[in-house]
Amino acid sequence: MSSARSARIGRLLGVCLLLWVVALAFAEPRLLVNGRDIAANTTELVKGTSYAPGAALARALGAELTNDLGRGIVSLQVGGRVMQLALVGEPPGGATTESVWLDGRAVAGGPAVMTGGEVFLPVKAVAEALGASVTYLADEDTVMVVQPRARLTAMRSQARGGERVELSLSALVRYSTFFNEPLSTLHVYLERTDVETRLPTLEGEAFTTTTATATAGATEVRIQLRPGTDYRVYAVPDGRGFRLNVALGVAVGETESEKVYVVVDPGHGGSDQGIVTPGFGSEAVLTLAFAERLASALTARGMRVALTRDLDALVNPAEREKLGVGADLFISIHVAPVELGEFRAYYLGAAANVTSLDMAVRENATTALREGATDALRRELLLGLVPDLDVGRRVSEALSGRLFAVGGYRAEVVASAPLQVLGGAAGRGVLLEFSAADLASDGLPERFADAVEQLAREGGIGAAR
Ligand SMILES: [Zn+2]
Repeated sequence: MSSARSARIGRLLGVCLLLWVVALAFAEPRLLVNGRDIAANTTELVKGTSYAPGAALARALGAELTNDLGRGIVSLQVGGRVMQLALVGEPPGGATTESVWLDGRAVAGGPAVMTGGEVFLPVKAVAEALGASVTYLADEDTVMVVQPRARLTAMRSQARGGERVELSLSALVRYSTFFNEPLSTLHVYLERTDVETRLPTLEGEAFTTTTATATAGATEVRIQLRPGTDYRVYAVPDGRGFRLNVALGVAVGETESEKVYVVVDPGHGGSDQGIVTPGFGSEAVLTLAFAERLASALTARGMRVALTRDLDALVNPAEREKLGVGADLFISIHVAPVELGEFRAYYLGAAANVTSLDMAVRENATTALREGATDALRRELLLGLVPDLDVGRRVSEALSGRLFAVGGYRAEVVASAPLQVLGGAAGRGVLLEFSAADLASDGLPERFADAVEQLAREGGIGAAR
């Protein structure tokens, strides 16, 4: 080797070394999510904390991302869970206030940061809340995020409270559905999911067979519906994973918009657990389980149903109220210390007596609402909604009568109360309080759905629209 050549190589090595040192000084840790590179990870927004572009991070974790710039909130949804982050323009300097919530509960982590027109999310907080493990490999200056693959651990058909197929998943994964109309086959694709064992083929009333098969790293569940069967798919959190419910019902030949539309409002949720009944648990959990079964039973009777919440999360009265707009019937469900087989029904209006005013204040007063709102609401009602109030009384009395006729449930109280949640549905909203034992029973969802069906058939609801 000539000396000139070795000098050239020496210079070249020197330049390379210099470039490498410069690159290292400006380098950001590499971010790998499930082995895939996510570009533009940065520790500059909040010193020493990895922030990644929201859309790319959410996609890699199988979550749906929505930015609500108006409210300053970023939401990620996966497997029936909702994670929310406060969205800020300037990263917080000192002590941070609550800024990350999972299903309405505060969890550790900083807010989402908007910079250069793009939303960045704190990698560790988001990944861990969605069940992934996060490791920093100092030697390689790499942040590794690994999500467990999910297993389809169980598949069963449930006839109680309206027929449905339940799929149990061990971890949060994204899913999608496709209905193949000519063959009347519903396909449910579960991403990053293995089938635990050989799950038996299911048979039922509204479907002929349900089978699960592994397909290229995913699992496909195929439900062969009987012609004319309607379905509705919704996820419910379950331990570290979730349950995917496919509610099945008989279509009655009406278009969606012609069907009776019922909104079911499970009381409380999240940080507000309501009354706790020994042996039955919290009101929030009881009302949600009941609402799910009632929704299945109503769907099976050809009605269109929506829930104001389908997970254990806090929803404020104003949001619940908004979801009631356009409903033929809005049913808010609560627990009260009443006798087995009895219930209390309240419709929107000024408080009829001290008990119902007391109840209204209790039910209205969650985080979003302070004292005084009840009075303001009452004023608003008296000024603007008076014609609807009489409808409320009639609907409540008619529903109470049907509940007695089909199931022997007796109304202890039917009274008016200034309840904000019922505002959206105006006169077509009823708040019902049952005993914990009745809400947990097998009979009530079916009898309740029968009562609503009778009411609809008799023109008590639905006809006014
Ligand atoms: Zn309650």
